Amino acid sequence: MSHPLLQLDGFCVAYRTVEAVHSVRLQVNEGEIVTVIGPNGAGKTTLLCAAMGLLPSTGQLLLDGERVARPSVETMVSRGVALVPERRELFGEMSVEDNLLLGGFYQWRKGKRDQRARMDEIFAIFPRLQERRAQMASTLSGGERQMLAIGRALMARPRLLMLDEPSLGLAPLVVREVLRVVSQLRSHGVSVLLVEQNARAALQVADRAYVLEMGAVALEGKARDLLHDQRIIDTYLGIG
Ligand code: ATP
Repeated sequence: MSHPLLQLDGFCVAYRTVEAVHSVRLQVNEGEIVTVIGPNGAGKTTLLCAAMGLLPSTGQLLLDGERVARPSVETMVSRGVALVPERRELFGEMSVEDNLLLGGFYQWRKGKRDQRARMDEIFAIFPRLQERRAQMASTLSGGERQMLAIGRALMARPRLLMLDEPSLGLAPLVVREVLRVVSQLRSHGVSVLLVEQNARAALQVADRAYVLEMGAVALEGKARDLLHDQRIIDTYLGIG
């Protein structure tokens, strides 16, 4: 039996003495798109950052069924995990192409040719980035910037991509476009853990979902079931 790609069990994260994530149990299987939705301050970003090794955590984190004793960014990156942070953190005064090349930094030892080949694969996923390859990142539209941030994370050839609120600040049509591309990553061998406040958009592209409330998993299930769950509709989907 194959193990989940990522598994959290009894996973807790605290800021000094205040616990922001309480005993979370969550898994992402190979080829899945899993979303974590929930209100402001529920602990979604904290959960993602700790799962990436950016914040200390307690409890268990397993990759391919193997326990990672003390998750660090280096370990997570070398084991095929990448994070696209909420603020996207691009280098505004650098071109699209140079931002992408920086994403492959950890793999430079493999040689420039490999990086160019990977960049061409990224351009095949995001043709818009190819058209703008020489343009400064600061001059891109919000949607293009989000695509560049995702493209940069993909340069490292991750198996699991963790995305923190990719819809933030984007117009509804652009959100749909960005999430459409996210849903296609599966066919490129990338599984996705997607943190979103835009519950409807996230549930429309995800296979499974967890609802995080006050740091704990309040509900979980198939995304299409949650889209029709009265409590989710009342609390997170509003009218329409
Ligand atoms: P949002 O959608 O608004 O980003 P979120 O679900 O991602 O919310 P977090 O940002 O993870 O929530 O915050 C969870 C809790 O931890 C909140 O109560 C927040 O105030 C607290 N918190 C976040 N960052 C810190 C920090 N650096 N120091 C102390 N407390 C923090």
